[in-house]
Amino acid sequence: MPTYQTASEEETIALGEKLAHTLPRQVVVLLIGNLGAGKTTLAKGIVKGLAAAEPDEVSSPTFTLIHEYGGARKVYHVDLYRLDHAMEVSRLGLDELFDREAVALIEWGERFPELMPQVRTEIRIQAGEGDQREITVTSITI
Ligand code: ADP
Ligand code: MG
Repeated sequence: MPTYQTASEEETIALGEKLAHTLPRQVVVLLIGNLGAGKTTLAKGIVKGLAAAEPDEVSSPTFTLIHEYGGARKVYHVDLYRLDHAMEVSRLGLDELFDREAVALIEWGERFPELMPQVRTEIRIQAGEGDQREITVTSITI
């Protein structure tokens, strides 16, 4: 279970770029961590690593729910923070999105485990002292 430490926003973006190159063409990645842990920051790096967009162009989909980036490699960035009920989430049609040849980055997806694919990658971000973050990558293949 690879674990990484970062000490700044820039380092987390750089890690995201590096991790992007290890991802399969079609994958669902749950970004797991508290508010402000760095999920969206890591997403910026992954989007950059896949050459789908520049980090400045990546913003939190907290209100818009789903953002789409890319050309050759597509990235969907989803934030389920504002949704409280599985029914609302199922209306988004994530299953159809998960079936696409794309990288789907999901924030707060672990709140709706029954709606997430069983085969997925999980990236957990834990805040430490100050700007320290511990980032752990787990690949689940059932
Ligand atoms: P989340 O999406 O998990 O709520 P964000 O990525 O939006 O979190 O915000 C993370 C915040 O923490 C940003 O303000 C960022 O500048 C700050 N930060 C400080 N240190 C780090 C780090 N090592 N990695 C990522 N973000 C960091
Ligand atoms: Mg976020």
